[in-house]
Amino acid sequence: MGILHSVLDKINEEEIVGLLQRYLKIPSVSSSEKLFAEAVYATCEEIGMDSYIDRHGNVISTLKGAEKGIKLACNAHLDTVGVGEGWTFDPYGAEIKDGKIYGRGAVDDKGQIVSQIMAAKALIDSNIPIKGELVLCHVVEEEVQNVSRKGTVKMLRDGFMADMAINGEASELFIQLACCGMLEVLVTTLGKRAHGSNPQYGVNAINQMCLFIKELNKLQPGYNKYTGYGSIVPGVIAGGERSSVVPDVCELKVSRFTVPGETGTMFYSQVLGIIERLKLEHEDFDARAELVYDSNPSIVSEESEIVKYMSKALKDVFGSDHPIIFKGTPQHDDADFLTNMAGIPTLIFGAGSNVIAHMPDEYVPVRELVEATKVYTAAFVNILAK
Ligand SMILES: [Zn+2]
Repeated sequence: MGILHSVLDKINEEEIVGLLQRYLKIPSVSSSEKLFAEAVYATCEEIGMDSYIDRHGNVISTLKGAEKGIKLACNAHLDTVGVGEGWTFDPYGAEIKDGKIYGRGAVDDKGQIVSQIMAAKALIDSNIPIKGELVLCHVVEEEVQNVSRKGTVKMLRDGFMADMAINGEASELFIQLACCGMLEVLVTTLGKRAHGSNPQYGVNAINQMCLFIKELNKLQPGYNKYTGYGSIVPGVIAGGERSSVVPDVCELKVSRFTVPGETGTMFYSQVLGIIERLKLEHEDFDARAELVYDSNPSIVSEESEIVKYMSKALKDVFGSDHPIIFKGTPQHDDADFLTNMAGIPTLIFGAGSNVIAHMPDEYVPVRELVEATKVYTAAFVNILAK
């Protein structure tokens, strides 16, 4: 505990809060992360990491030990969603009230970036000898619903690899072992246009879509003990031009959150199955479906090294009787790509609640932010100290 305490002593609440406030004042909505990326790069250089901005705009910062050892990656995203309506705080004001820091990105994901950087700084400032390698990957366009544009995916396609990873997302200081996958299917029913006074000459694509939705709603999403139930949501529907014309086309976008064990292709085949069945049952029925977006759930074993290191870190910070409760998130995170594309065992950890991500008056509690930084620090020491 001697070494760990000398490192934890380097953690300074004011410094953590100050850095997050500075970051929250720099807007970084998806695709406009440049200024914020430069600020993160500057901080990482300043604290003594070897940092660069890659060709995609990701900030990659490395701290290398003298000897070979574990390569640990910490991932968090630079981009935020837009501000949206309904704020009572300035979304870029970084105001503190009742122990909470408010701002777009406070919990998703700038608070997590700050915890990772400040933990790396504590490790560097303590001067303890380390082995292996710590890499902070602060990536662009995580919030974009297009797999090939995501900073993490681009970085992995460039060949990035690590032995284990922590995906920094709000987890209320619980270790999350799993995240859900998210996909979207576009269903189009094809009818036949006719004058509204003579609907019998047409085929109403909206009515056809109603038949489809009725069957869709009978499907049961899967369950996982960490993430809970998956979900199936008919989210967007459009069809018809004017009420006096029988519509010939109706489109429905369905989102599907999948739990570990389920895949987008499984759901897509269920959708195609419904369409085939309806075609047999109704002479006029015609439809097609397209898997527009597909990302996978991720899961890491309770027995994996990273989970053991992180569990120990939690006990180091909160005491040996601190209960270790494994959870999961119903949202989709970069843990998917780290785990499924690169085979890097990845858990999700961070301050604050993911329920308030993307909402007005987004905040992170200062206490949790500092505690998360301590847990990251303890994990770094457990994994990297010689
Ligand atoms: Zn996030």
